[in-house]
Amino acid sequence: ELANRMAERAADVVKSLMKMGMMVTMNQTIDADTAELVIGEFGHKAVRVSDADVEQVIDSVEDKAEDLITRPPVVTIMGHVDHGKTSLLDRIRKAQVATGEAGGITQHIGAYQVKAPNGQLISFLDTPGHAAFTSMRSRGAQVTDIVVLVVAADDAVMPQTVEAISHAKAAGVPIIVAINKIDKPSANPTKVRTDLLQHEIVVEAMSGDVQDVEVSAHTGQGIDELLEAISIQAEVLELTANPNRAARAAVIEAKLDVGRGPVATVLVQNGTLRKGDIFVVGEKWGKVRALVNDKGETVTEAGPSVPVEVLGLDGTPSAGDVLDVVSSEAQAREIATYREKASKDKRAAAGAATTLEQLMAKAKADKSVTELPVIVKADVQGSAEAIVQALEKIGNDEVRVRILHYGVGAITDSDVGLADASKAPILAFNVRANATARANSSQKGVEIRYYSIIYDLLDDIKKAASGLLKAEV
Ligand code: GDP
Repeated sequence: ELANRMAERAADVVKSLMKMGMMVTMNQTIDADTAELVIGEFGHKAVRVSDADVEQVIDSVEDKAEDLITRPPVVTIMGHVDHGKTSLLDRIRKAQVATGEAGGITQHIGAYQVKAPNGQLISFLDTPGHAAFTSMRSRGAQVTDIVVLVVAADDAVMPQTVEAISHAKAAGVPIIVAINKIDKPSANPTKVRTDLLQHEIVVEAMSGDVQDVEVSAHTGQGIDELLEAISIQAEVLELTANPNRAARAAVIEAKLDVGRGPVATVLVQNGTLRKGDIFVVGEKWGKVRALVNDKGETVTEAGPSVPVEVLGLDGTPSAGDVLDVVSSEAQAREIATYREKASKDKRAAAGAATTLEQLMAKAKADKSVTELPVIVKADVQGSAEAIVQALEKIGNDEVRVRILHYGVGAITDSDVGLADASKAPILAFNVRANATARANSSQKGVEIRYYSIIYDLLDDIKKAASGLLKAEV
């Protein structure tokens, strides 16, 4: 590999190493210092790539205020199973076709864009639910600007509704409530609104500041109002981007297509992605061979908040990977290789990222940490509430415990996903993790701490919090 990069013969490189007293074979890994010596021997110049270099290459452009334009909001639909997320996404998409938007039927590429009645463009992620939302966030891509929380008017707030609220709150993303199935005779929107109060969602109809809209995915009632509400929320958020810079985009979906090779759907977050651009995406890289929009049309460029399929990758990236346009193929390959190696090293080190000890270590290194995020699962509602109340009393003005989510029952995949994305431990009181959650937690390095005595749980957290306190001074 080294010989290849220097355009020298491998045998010569081995010979040169042997001259230095290193008895190596062609496939042996050598350390960076040795490599640098060899490179010098051959009269080449070594360029070391580090995390900092990668960041610098990518983040060196600062957007000036005058370059910024308003960009469309990116929306994810969340809510309990069967409350109508898929139906709502379909209805919104179809409403566009009916109003004669160019291009007709949208293709499923993982995201699509529609125009609200007031002309505002809105991008929807086509994968409903918080699993995708959270797994993307845990990879570092915060793509969603607004969460539409679907609650069926005949069923009100259910466990996954509560989970969705926790996920949106942990990510700091504003919520709009869509009270769905309003066409049903058994619909009781008031119950939805009062149920939500218990989860600190106070909707406008209850004099709060969370927008709520009654909709029916079946009849289409309220869909325009929902789009309107989204555009109002977007205005408040003042979402901007600079279209005149090298693109940064987030991977929404990626697959290996039989005919087209690796294909990734990305959502442009900043800049403009163009045909011919060279990019690095996670541990992969490529050169944009073609861009295909949500109507199946080939386009030459995609600006901020626009979803497009990208062809021309050297492999399949993961959802949540970030794509950055760079200036040369050599650079793209360099960064991709570096990342691949770095992530291998990280996996080898098998470090759990979210243990209490590590949170404390991080607090010592980074004095700005003032919150101890945790997730609480207990066997019965009474214990869960008692624990949460006691935890909230721990800490002072400087450090506090932040309950990202609490609930009753076994630890699920969703809990692990939230813990991973928010770098929080899970505190389990008289409950266990189910099999997939257990496997996932050890793979992701999420810490689950089991307790059967409330006092022990509180004591541990007190110690962790006071660790943070000490780090402050
Ligand atoms: P998801 O699991 O949240 O994606 O929910 P679906 O979109 O699959 O909808 C679940 C069920 O509710 C389906 O049988 C839908 O036909 C039905 N449904 C969805 N929206 C409405 C609605 O507005 N009114 C009525 N009456 N039924 C709906």
